[in-house]
Amino acid sequence: MMKKYYLGIDLGGTRIKMGIVSDGRVTSRRIVPASSASGLEASLPLLQQEINSLVAAQPDGSGQLAGIGLAFPGLVNTRTKRILSTNAKYDDAPSLNLEEWVTKNWELPFCIDNDARMATVGEWKYGAGKDTDDLVAVTIGTGIGTSAVIGGQLLRGKHFQAGCLGGHFTIQVNGRPCSCGNNGCVEAHGSTWSLAGIIREHALFPSSILAGAEVLDFSTLFKAASAKDPLAGEVLQYSLDVWSAGIVNLIHAYDPEVVVIGGGVLHSADQILPYIREKVKQHAWTPWGTVQIRPTQLAEDAGILGIVHMLQYPL
Ligand SMILES: [Zn+2]
Repeated sequence: MMKKYYLGIDLGGTRIKMGIVSDGRVTSRRIVPASSASGLEASLPLLQQEINSLVAAQPDGSGQLAGIGLAFPGLVNTRTKRILSTNAKYDDAPSLNLEEWVTKNWELPFCIDNDARMATVGEWKYGAGKDTDDLVAVTIGTGIGTSAVIGGQLLRGKHFQAGCLGGHFTIQVNGRPCSCGNNGCVEAHGSTWSLAGIIREHALFPSSILAGAEVLDFSTLFKAASAKDPLAGEVLQYSLDVWSAGIVNLIHAYDPEVVVIGGGVLHSADQILPYIREKVKQHAWTPWGTVQIRPTQLAEDAGILGIVHMLQYPL
């Protein structure tokens, strides 16, 4: 008899990641570019086509597909399975009924939750946080996603936003305006969407090698900093301090034993983790010991494994 499998979708702002999951492992994956600015409804036909083709490529086709889970970049009511609020990605999503869409097309169980929360569940159950019931996961990418597990309880809160807004902790009063309406958020000072503005407004920009760069993202920044570009060095140092401050805030808020860091910047983990560990040691108030700062073990698969876990064992 063929084994049952599940489909997990991690809907990012720039990429849609899909994976077939069986026994807590992603057995095949597909990544397609996303156009989150044009909305979710406009993306559904592509999503449907990609799901069908990924499923058709399985040895037994769709016969053993047992459910579809979606990790979404916004606030989600996990009971009604409706999206409550978005922030500059798929802004039409609250008007859509995705459960109806899944039922109509596949007649399968469906679940949906916040993407960073699902990355946290993935790391907790299958990745870098398997040995603890008290963890926070942070994903540094286009935005900064966070979520927390306390004493084995996944935080959701009355309005489904508990733990998810760590990227919008204020780290600088009167700081840069954020897309969320607040000023001085971790995201507004340390995410990919805010990085280009920070670099361009810097006094050293005209003389920096970054002035000739086609894309201003963290990978370009790390390269320029390694090449001793003064602006890149300064902005990188600033970003490290922003992430460290954000993580100290998360530790003070949620009392974790482990903080798992994921996202694109982890490609330069050697340049990041030792610094953050030292900062946390100096600045976090944890008289019981030291919070462990660990890199993601699941990388791109974290959200997919988390949402599929939720389909099988609702938390
Ligand atoms: Zn914000």
